[in-house]
Amino acid sequence: MRTITHWIGGKSAPGSSTRTAPVWNPATGEQQAEVALASTTDVDTAVRAAAAAFETWSQSSLSQRTKILFNFRELVNARTQELAEIVSDEHGKVVSDARGEVQRGLEVVEFACGIPTLLKGDFSDQVSTGVDVYSFREPLGVCAGITPFNFPVMVPMWMFPVAIACGNTFVLKPSERDPSAAQLIAELWAEAGLPDGVFNVVHGDKEAVDALLDHADVAAVSFVGSTPIARYIHERGTANGKRVQALGGAKNHAIVLPDAPLDHAADHLVAAAFGSAGERCMAISAAVAVGGAADELVAAVSEKARAVKVGPGRDPDSEMGPVVTAAARERIVGLIGSGEQQGATLAVDGRGLSVPGYEDGFFVGPTVIDGVRTDMDVYREEIFGPVLSVVRTDTVDDAIALINSNPYGNGTAIFTSSGEAARRFQRGVNVGMIGINVPIPVPMAYYSFGGWKDSLFGDKHIHGPEGVSFYTRAKVVTARWPHVEHASDASYHFPTSQ
Ligand code: NAD
Repeated sequence: MRTITHWIGGKSAPGSSTRTAPVWNPATGEQQAEVALASTTDVDTAVRAAAAAFETWSQSSLSQRTKILFNFRELVNARTQELAEIVSDEHGKVVSDARGEVQRGLEVVEFACGIPTLLKGDFSDQVSTGVDVYSFREPLGVCAGITPFNFPVMVPMWMFPVAIACGNTFVLKPSERDPSAAQLIAELWAEAGLPDGVFNVVHGDKEAVDALLDHADVAAVSFVGSTPIARYIHERGTANGKRVQALGGAKNHAIVLPDAPLDHAADHLVAAAFGSAGERCMAISAAVAVGGAADELVAAVSEKARAVKVGPGRDPDSEMGPVVTAAARERIVGLIGSGEQQGATLAVDGRGLSVPGYEDGFFVGPTVIDGVRTDMDVYREEIFGPVLSVVRTDTVDDAIALINSNPYGNGTAIFTSSGEAARRFQRGVNVGMIGINVPIPVPMAYYSFGGWKDSLFGDKHIHGPEGVSFYTRAKVVTARWPHVEHASDASYHFPTSQ
């Protein structure tokens, strides 16, 4: 059995713990590897390596950092297919979708290649006679990233390219469910010329996470995952004096108005609900059909849902792969059953789907549940599977109120041909990322990504300008270079401009 180990100080490290976790192939249902689970001592070793590397990396020139970032960009670009296949084998998503996540991660690397421009400070000449003021930003130290299973390349790349470009060093704790992509990424950093210890990987579970949250030498923590854990990370990390951004779960609604081009909306809803088997934090899981749109929409979406080709991620004909683990499948199947028991209608039922040749794989077929009410478990829970719930409202204002009464505020979309309705929607919803006839409005790397309410704990969104701000702190300098022959103007008053 292959054992996936940590990466500390520029090389593979077995660690001191004998604890491991299984890594499954979701398409076949077989265990394909085991991953080492770091002890508190292993985390300490990684943080110490990162702290030692910070001494020199934080002093490296912008040119040195940019060169390495460009090298890394070239290497990831050249190895995109390999990375995508590793993701597909452990996560289950289809390879074309995995290539998409590598591409979106690469865009953050490209953003970080512009770090000399992003770190330019301000300068004010002659704020007082003979006095100038200027500001610049410095790195924080060792930054930690704790990431979810659903984007094992893209989500870590929301964090470390920006952190490292800003002069920090980094310890990544990827999901133990699909840990291998992080290993290849570490090797590519080394090949790109990144000094040892600047980028480290510790695999693990709660023990490793808690060790990072409690370590005195960790300055900042970026977390992406489910809401209960995000809340916990934020509370424990900030209690320990760290800067923390913790992105949580989601329940993303798409409103469909009667004036929307129905076929276009249905196509996009199906892709957004069932792409990656619904295991995206920006997946649409609730369609809000307004007024007369509902019946026709449910019919169109159901027909398209039945046509989705479900199969192993490595099969180029597959449009949707399995879910990540047997436990995830059980949970999703249970929630679909609860919808039926609580009075909703299963327009398309994906339970019991069997893929020929892959009977032991963790497959759930696309599922459409009609007549969903907000008190049902299928609405209240973040299902994180290929399930689209349809809720009906009378007006666009009712739909906006429905979205705002949900505890999550990650992403949302509207399908309409009315500019007035779209504008009312974008101004009215308490949600961080909004799509207008775009179902998955993931911001480009040069904007920042983040939700509101229970979808984000902390003040800063991730990557883009807010990422640079998160991974640095400002210094403001007030400077005077007096002529020696000038009389001193020192005063006991609080300083004011002259
Ligand atoms: P998760 O919360 O179970 O795990 C995330 C990370 O936390 C993993 O590295 C895991 O090892 C660690 N972890 C798990 N339990 C822990 C505990 N008790 N104490 C300390 N650490 C713990 O999330 P997941 O199942 O891997 O990913 C899916 C979730 O992530 C969904 O809720 C999804 O919406 C969310 N997500 C959010 C975003 C976003 O941008 N807001 C993006 C991707 C995924």
